[in-house]
Amino acid sequence: MSGNPPTGHRPVGTHQATGPGLTGPVPRRARIVIVGGGLAGAELAGALSSEGATGVLLLEAGPVAGLTHIHTTHSPQRATELVFAPDSDPYFHRPWRSATPPHYTGISGLRRRLGGRSLYWHGVVLPLEDWALRAPEWPASIVTALTGGDGTPSWYDRVTADLTRWSGGALWDPALPTRTAFGGEEFRPLPRACRRTPGADRWEAYTAFDAWRDADGRTGPPPGVSARCDTEALAVDVGGGRARGVVVRAADGSVTTVAADTVVLCAGAVESTRLAAHALTAADVLPEPRLGGLADHIVQGFVVRLPADRLPPPGSYHVPTDPVLRSYLRMDVHPDGPGRALLDVRVTGEQLPNPDSVVECEVSGSRPGPAKVSTELLPEDRKLIAAQRDLLRDFWATAAAETGAPKTPLEFTDFGDADRDNTRVLPDRTRAQSASRPESWTSLLGTEDHEGGSLPLGRLLDDRHAFTALPGLYAAGPAVFPRLGAANPSLTAIALSRRLAGLLAAA
Ligand SMILES: Cc1cc2nc3c(=O)[nH]c(=O)nc-3n(C[C@H](O)[C@H](O)[C@H](O)COP(=O)(O)OP(=O)(O)OC[C@H]3O[C@@H](n4cnc5c(N)ncnc54)[C@H](O)[C@@H]3O)c2cc1C
Repeated sequence: MSGNPPTGHRPVGTHQATGPGLTGPVPRRARIVIVGGGLAGAELAGALSSEGATGVLLLEAGPVAGLTHIHTTHSPQRATELVFAPDSDPYFHRPWRSATPPHYTGISGLRRRLGGRSLYWHGVVLPLEDWALRAPEWPASIVTALTGGDGTPSWYDRVTADLTRWSGGALWDPALPTRTAFGGEEFRPLPRACRRTPGADRWEAYTAFDAWRDADGRTGPPPGVSARCDTEALAVDVGGGRARGVVVRAADGSVTTVAADTVVLCAGAVESTRLAAHALTAADVLPEPRLGGLADHIVQGFVVRLPADRLPPPGSYHVPTDPVLRSYLRMDVHPDGPGRALLDVRVTGEQLPNPDSVVECEVSGSRPGPAKVSTELLPEDRKLIAAQRDLLRDFWATAAAETGAPKTPLEFTDFGDADRDNTRVLPDRTRAQSASRPESWTSLLGTEDHEGGSLPLGRLLDDRHAFTALPGLYAAGPAVFPRLGAANPSLTAIALSRRLAGLLAAA
């Protein structure tokens, strides 16, 4: 969750969301309704427009609040606070209750505004690993579409090429070496779809909303798409054995139903799962509104302040995933005052799908109530946690020897210790840290913003993202990953949204 100098450039300036297609009464009918205007929903809307689709309506529960990334709008300090002290973010919203706190509490939540978390993300774009995609859970047809092999360009290659162009021609600072040996590991630059604001300490990560801006800085949806903000989907409208629209609360408080041929849930994993569980129950294909399989990444790391001349140059690095550990190692080096640097190291690993990690809700009348989230670690997850800690200890022991730091052992507390979570990397805390003494931290589940897996392709959904038990209903975003792998989810989420757009436009 740390920001580093990205690569490309864009002109300074913010954009006002004032263009056509964003205001007015909620239409009574649309061909395709997309629920949620965050990373997956905006990408799907844009790709549907590019495919020539018409009658697309994007519904977003939050307001239009500028479509600019927080690291463009705010200073680095303020942007970091918005993420790690979310009470200070007016758009932070956690619509669920955790039945297994402290997991899915704290900084775990949505950013309820048009753009969602796509205006907060760090642009790290890694494909899912072969070992994850080869697992039987991922449908073979989707793996082929993502990675190639059927004679057509792979979605990973196409999206990576677009994001590279968007970023100004490179996904990392070309000044960084392609290989950096440190701490007994060989690091590569970490790919990030980001560009820098010239002359300022500001940057932004890729957003599908670029296509919503015209030359005059006005913002509006692309051709074929309209959007309504402050418009919350209350329930999927189910009748005659299919999804036939969405019940919404409009900006003026009125409740109305939008009829649609196709409804695509893109409301973030927990909210999409809550709406789907209710719809499947209303259609009598699920006994109660409860679906398992929710997972997040298991992430642990440490921070330490060291002499800058003993460390690699400032930047973001990674060591590709280890298939046995099902985790990848990331290292960020940040300047930290004259002659010093902050070394921020983390291991990101896969939490396995578990039927006991659940999103459920009560039903009041014909509407779903708020979600309740529970998460459980499997024995394999606990082994992964222990193995990640061994990796971090070995790495630190070697790095300490290389940098001349005292061999202070790296100590961890119990997994799920809210006093040693990922807010440890906040500048206010690291500044108070003694030089050369590492401090470990462990993310609480649900706080990496990588939650997914609860509407899996190949099980609840077919390989066209359609719910097999409820025609007319679809989903996109990390919710649909049958296995998370270790990679950050957004490259795959963008690729799958674009693939889904092609399928829906052709239908
Ligand atoms: C600080 C930060 C850094 C990150 N960095 C990275 C990174 O570097 N790489 C990476 O791969 N991922 C990263 N992520 C994760 C990434 O942003 C998420 O995985 C991604 O945004 C999920 O996409 P989504 O569309 O499913 O959800 P969101 O982007 O959260 O969008 C969901 C939208 O649905 C709306 N909504 C919810 N319920 C309703 C409803 N009932 N009706 C209407 N609208 C509704 C919400 O308001 C929201 O706008 C980061 C996230 C954060 C917060």
